[in-house]
Parts: sequence; C-alpha cells; structure tokens
Amino acid sequence: MIIPPFRNEPSLDFSKAANRSDFAAALRLVHDRLGRSYPLLIGGSEVGTDSWVESFNPAHPGELVGRHAAAGREQVELAVAAGWAAFEEWSRTPLAQRAELLLRAAQVIRRRRHELGALMVYEVGKPWDEADGEAAEAVDLMEWYARQALELPARDRMAPNPGEITQFRYLPLGVGAVISPWNFPLALTTGMMTAALVAGNCVILKPAETASTTAAWLVEILSDLGLPPGVINLLSGRGEVVGEALVDHPQIRFVAFTGSREVGVRIYQRASVVHPGQRWLKRVQLEMGGKNAVVVDETADLDLAAQEIALSAFGFQGQKCSAGSRAVVVGSVYDDLVGRVLERTERIRCGDPVDPEVTLGPVIDGDAEEKILDYIQIGRGEGDLLRGGGRVSGEGRFIEPTIFGGVAPDARIAQEEIFGPVLAVIRARDFEDGIRIANSTDYGLTGSYFSRDPERLAFARDHLHVGNLYLNRRSTGALMGVHPFGGFNMSGTDTKAGGPDYLLFFLQGQSVAERL
Ligand code: NAD
Repeated sequence: MIIPPFRNEPSLDFSKAANRSDFAAALRLVHDRLGRSYPLLIGGSEVGTDSWVESFNPAHPGELVGRHAAAGREQVELAVAAGWAAFEEWSRTPLAQRAELLLRAAQVIRRRRHELGALMVYEVGKPWDEADGEAAEAVDLMEWYARQALELPARDRMAPNPGEITQFRYLPLGVGAVISPWNFPLALTTGMMTAALVAGNCVILKPAETASTTAAWLVEILSDLGLPPGVINLLSGRGEVVGEALVDHPQIRFVAFTGSREVGVRIYQRASVVHPGQRWLKRVQLEMGGKNAVVVDETADLDLAAQEIALSAFGFQGQKCSAGSRAVVVGSVYDDLVGRVLERTERIRCGDPVDPEVTLGPVIDGDAEEKILDYIQIGRGEGDLLRGGGRVSGEGRFIEPTIFGGVAPDARIAQEEIFGPVLAVIRARDFEDGIRIANSTDYGLTGSYFSRDPERLAFARDHLHVGNLYLNRRSTGALMGVHPFGGFNMSGTDTKAGGPDYLLFFLQGQSVAERL
C-alpha cells in the first residue's frame, strides 16, 4: 500500500464566515441528537443493562447529552470472551488491511469533523477551536499509527548468522482494556484504541462517565467500517466497577490508561497481581497528570511569554494534563510579567461555548467545580489572589480564571494538580533557580522555558526534566507525529503517544531461527 507522507490535519480558521456557519449548523444538528440512550457493544451485539451512567452538558447541567448502559462484572466476562473469540482472526488479518481501516476511519472523522467537534462542545464544554483541534488530532493519530504499523516489518533487520535463517517479528498481545479520560474524549480514546487495533489486538473500551457519548459515537464510526464482531467492545459504566473488573481480569493481557494519578497508581498496583489461571504479566501503560511550569527569565520576550502563560493556564479551562498551572518568573521581571499576564487574562471571555466568541467554558461537573473552589480557598492562604477566585454566576459550572501571586514553590497549589483555571505564580532568584523550582514536583509531563539567551536555552534542554519540553512556546498543544507525548515520574510511563515507538507497547517481539 502506498500512502502519502504524514501531514498534520490543518486547523480550521474560524475567522472565515463559511467555517463559522458550518460549525454553527453542526451545533444545531447535534443538539437535536442529545439525550439519546446508548447500549453496550459486546461481540458485535448491542447489550442493555438495568443501570445507567449519564453525561450532562456542563454549561447547562440539566441538559442530558447521553444515557449509557452501565456494565458490571457479568458484561466484563462477556466482553473478554468476545474479544478472545475475535482475536484469532483479527491478529492474522494482514497488517495492510488493519492499517487501511485506520485510514478509512480517519476519512470518516474528517468528513464528520464539525459534528464530532460540536458534540464535544456540548458534552465536555470545549470552546470551538479546542473542539475542532481535538477532532483534527484524532485524524492525526490514526494517520500516524497506520503509517507506523506499515513500517513495523522494516524493524526486523537483525545481524546474519551463518548456517541459520533468522527472523524477528512483532506479534499482537491479545485482548486489552483501554480506559480513557473525559478531557480528550475523542483524541485520546482514538489514539489508545486504534494503536491497539492496528497492532492486531482486540479491545474493550471503558470511557469516562462524563464523556461516554463521544466515545459511543467513535465506536459506532469504527464498527460501521466493517470491523469483525468482538474486535472492539464498548463497556460504558463506572470506573470503580467496570474499570476495576477489567484491570483485575486474568484474561486481560494489557491495560492502556490515561487519567488521574490516583486512579493510575491504583491500576498499576492491581494489574501487578497474578490471579489464578493468569498466564502472563499484564502490560500496563499509564499516562497521568501534571503540574507543569512555564519558566520565564529576564531576557525573555515578556509579551510572548505572557500570552503563552495565559493560553497554557486557561486553555480549555485549565483542564489539560499539559496545562501550565505554574508560572515561575525571575524576580527582576516578575512584576512586569505578572502585569502582562493579568492584562491578557482580562481578554478571556467566559460563557457557554456554543458562542464562538467564548474562550473559557465550564468545568466538567459538580465534583470538579467543588474541588477547584476548594483549591482556590487553599490558595487564599498560600498566595495573593491577583484576580478571579470564584464562580461565575449562572446555571453552568463556570469558574473565573484565577491567578495567585507570590506562591511558595512547595505550596499545595504549586504542587498538586488542580485541573481547573487556576494559575500559581512563583518568584525565582535567577534562571537556574527557576528550573530547579520547575523540577520540584512529583510530576514531569510538560514544561516551557522562555529566554533569548541560547546558552540558557541549552541549559534548560539539559536540566528541565519533563517528557515534553517547549522552548519559547506554551506548554500545551502537542501535535501528533511532531511532538510525541508522554510524561516522566508521576506523570506516567512515558509512552509517547503519536511518536515512533508507541505501537511497541501493544506488540511482543518474537525471534525465530531455522538451522539450514
Ligand atoms: P480519572 O482517573 O478520574 O478517570 C480516567 C478513567 O479511569 C475513566 O474512564 C474512569 O471511569 C476510570 N476509572 C476510575 N476509577 C477507576 C478504577 N478504580 N479502576 C479502573 N478505572 C477507573 O481521570 P479523568 O478525570 O477522566 O481525567 C483527568 C485526568 O487525566 C487528569 O489528571 C489529567 O492530567 C489526566 N490526563 C493525562 C493525560 C496524559 O496524556 N498524561 C491526558 C489527558 C488527561
């Protein structure tokens, strides 16, 4: 199969009237489809249960986006059996055919990009450009993994051994669980799931409760492309019930998880237990949270730094694992930079993200709202509240973009992931102190460093210990195939989604030698 070189899907320019009216039309269309009920998918059959999980529009918490059958242990057994029943055929399906499936799925997502974007506006409160960017990222991931899969056979070149024919090849693992978070419900679910599939595995998807509808639409798109029954199974439901039952199941071969540190660590522990009848050690990939820093020294372009700090901290309401929730600023430019960040933040428009002018939507649900407000309360005792600090009136779950200044590096709001629109600004003595402060959390996902000094930029390269380091640009917005994504330390197992090695997690190498 000959396919053109990989190119990222271009982002849409919403300043063009045609793009705006297309997206607005998609919002109206999708609005009419909200509130539907969705079954599980097991072995190609729709399966109902007697309990549900529901997802609501965080801008209008009374508006039901989707009602999803909630799986329990019984459905986990059925799905695991269905996955293994499909595995024999799927694992032997030619690689090119599996890769082609991803390319066809990418085509469908391209065609339905506005619809999927619109759904995420309603389901998780993404502003237009964030929602559209996510649909583009889902396309990128499939295009990238299809190409990576086709390159796998080229990795088999081993040294010759006279008197033997030798071979090295990659085999799929089996049936695995994909457990996805709500904040990138399309892209991250697509990424983990399609990488597993193209490698020849069968998947049981357990999406986040608050974003189950986006996951259900994605599964429908993939199923409609003619995947054999059982290759993808959808088990919506509660994490602590169905997620945990999947992780514990002795016939689950791998777990690909993206989500919080707390749940990730729990999965890591549980998956290490070898249950009776289990014939392997489960392979586990965990991509977890971050407490990412944007460091600014006195030589930096302060306007650029301020703009990128505001985007890193408040893009998608600060609910990105890559969010720059700490700004670490060298003392001599601290006041100047903070002034510019405050000025940038004033331009943020908060509201229902169906409005194209809105740049800050709601946080995901009542629990998140409460947690963020609790942290703001803690912040009042740990720093100077420079702006924000409360809810925005109205029925939605809106929280003002909030900035605390004069925060100590070891304060709780400088160490713990808040996952909301809250920025802690920390003063550093000099650039080396700034980098030391940036490295002083348990996490290590993304980090930015702003400077005009090439030697300091080189120093930052060598000393800022994060999986995704950005120099003179914001901490968010990784492009798949360009910035392989994954974190160090308590941010995860550094799997580097959208990178050259990602598929290897879903494969095992086999060496074959034949005496001549
Ligand atoms: P979460 O950990 O609450 O949930 C993630 C998934 O795990 C959901 O599907 C949930 O139902 C499931 N789950 C919950 N309890 C479980 C259990 N006991 N066993 C098995 N599964 C269980 O995370 P979230 O709130 O959906 O997502 C936000 C978090 O994800 C943040 O911490 C964010 O930083 C992180 N995240 C990381 C990355 C990354 O690439 N590193 C990307 C996106 C989000």
